[in-house]
Amino acid sequence: MSTQEYDVVVVGAGTAGCYAAATVAREGLDVAIVERKSAEEAGHIACGDALKGADAFPEAIPKSQIEGAFTNTDVDHGRFEIPQEDTVLDIPVPGELAVIDRWEYGRLIIEGAEKAGTDFHYDTVVQDVVQDDDGTVTGVRGKSNGEVVEFEAEVVVDGAGSLSILQDKTDFSNATFDTNVSYSQFCSAYREIVEVPEPVEWDDALVFKPTERAAGYLWYFPRTETTINAGLGFQMNEEPMKLVEDLKRDLRNRPEFEGAEVKDKLGAALPTRRPYDSAVADGFVAVGDAAGHVNPTTGGGIAGAAYAGTYAGQQIVHAIGDGDVSEESLWRYNERVMDHFGGRYAGLDVYNVLSTAVDVDDLMGLLASLPGEKLAEALYSGTTSFGPALVAKTAKDSFGYWGQILNFYKTKRLADDLMEHYARYPGRPEALDVWQEQRDDLMDDIYAVTGADPKY
Ligand SMILES: Cc1cc2nc3c(=O)[nH]c(=O)nc-3n(C[C@H](O)[C@H](O)[C@H](O)COP(=O)(O)OP(=O)(O)OC[C@H]3O[C@@H](n4cnc5c(N)ncnc54)[C@H](O)[C@@H]3O)c2cc1C
Repeated sequence: MSTQEYDVVVVGAGTAGCYAAATVAREGLDVAIVERKSAEEAGHIACGDALKGADAFPEAIPKSQIEGAFTNTDVDHGRFEIPQEDTVLDIPVPGELAVIDRWEYGRLIIEGAEKAGTDFHYDTVVQDVVQDDDGTVTGVRGKSNGEVVEFEAEVVVDGAGSLSILQDKTDFSNATFDTNVSYSQFCSAYREIVEVPEPVEWDDALVFKPTERAAGYLWYFPRTETTINAGLGFQMNEEPMKLVEDLKRDLRNRPEFEGAEVKDKLGAALPTRRPYDSAVADGFVAVGDAAGHVNPTTGGGIAGAAYAGTYAGQQIVHAIGDGDVSEESLWRYNERVMDHFGGRYAGLDVYNVLSTAVDVDDLMGLLASLPGEKLAEALYSGTTSFGPALVAKTAKDSFGYWGQILNFYKTKRLADDLMEHYARYPGRPEALDVWQEQRDDLMDDIYAVTGADPKY
């Protein structure tokens, strides 16, 4: 067995891991990323390739360094196809949005972390977490080319993505770290990169389409006018879909995909749940998918991973500087995540909960009856705002869906209450229990109004 020592060890060379490592390395600490894939394969990640908020990425790896992977920056709206109602809704997307060459982006962020001073250990699968007698995490253990390797560190960063094995291997009994995590809070997704012979007409749009089931959806994201990222996913508390077959069937029915060639295929799980209540323990921080930092309604997780990695890196530098890597010392990281995007994602998760209890035809009928402009405002104003003006304007067209609208309106008010509660996220670990109890009471009201089964 070989042992290596670092100030910080990061598991996973994805977005969260690379931003965390680059942040720490820039401050002069010794940091390594341990990645199970080879140097060639690292950065090859299952993704829809849509990067929201591309204009305001954290500086640890500057935007100028990753811009080369932005293959389509002309996307300015979402195109929602509603076959049940024979309708297409075009809804503007505010802010900068890019569809990217995901593998190239993956390589560029690795290069960015390397330039900042990070050591990389590829072909190394982490299998265990090392803790001292008090439960403080002091390193990880794994295998590289059949050899056992150990990495000792003051802080371990878990950037190993969805359903990370590190969390199964760590004893969190003395920590606030969120262990209320189940596969049913995740989405199973699959995507293909497809080359079409002729340019598509919708190269300035992200195309969405419901599958025949309530919590399933298909997407078509144009990397260029002839290279399309086509994919689909479903919530894992639903009956499993045959992802490959269902995608094939939809592609076959679209004339623009006639003669198309599949260039790449990948599938993975992604967390469509609220962010972890706490993602820290003594000597340990989880970032990105490993801490549920994904928008649970869109599945967008790249931006959240980049910011979480950055905030974690900054707090780790403080903690090591103070000679105290305890949960309490790392706590500020939780607060920054909740303040920036975690509270909003928890609010959006309410609509994910609602969607599991709503009939898909009702939902599509309702969407088709709403004016696109109002819907865009509603979709992008923090939580979805089914306010009185929207209801009044659509009353004529939406006759037959009034019960549903009232239900949405009540749900929206509860989602707002929940976001207000997240704005009061505690400033220290000892206060987490009480905050969680109050939050769980709000969730009980949400399950009662939506009629959904409890998700947590
Ligand atoms: C099909 C699909 C479509 C998506 N579409 C979009 C989209 O359009 N836009 C968007 O913003 N987000 C999208 N997402 C989500 C987005 O891809 C993730 O949120 C984001 O990649 C999370 O980054 P991460 O760094 O946390 O994890 P990852 O990118 O998953 O990186 C984790 C890394 O850890 C490594 N690793 C795992 N276990 C170990 C181990 N035991 N030892 C060593 N290394 C390990 C992995 O090999 C990997 O390199 C999509 C996800 C899926 C599955």
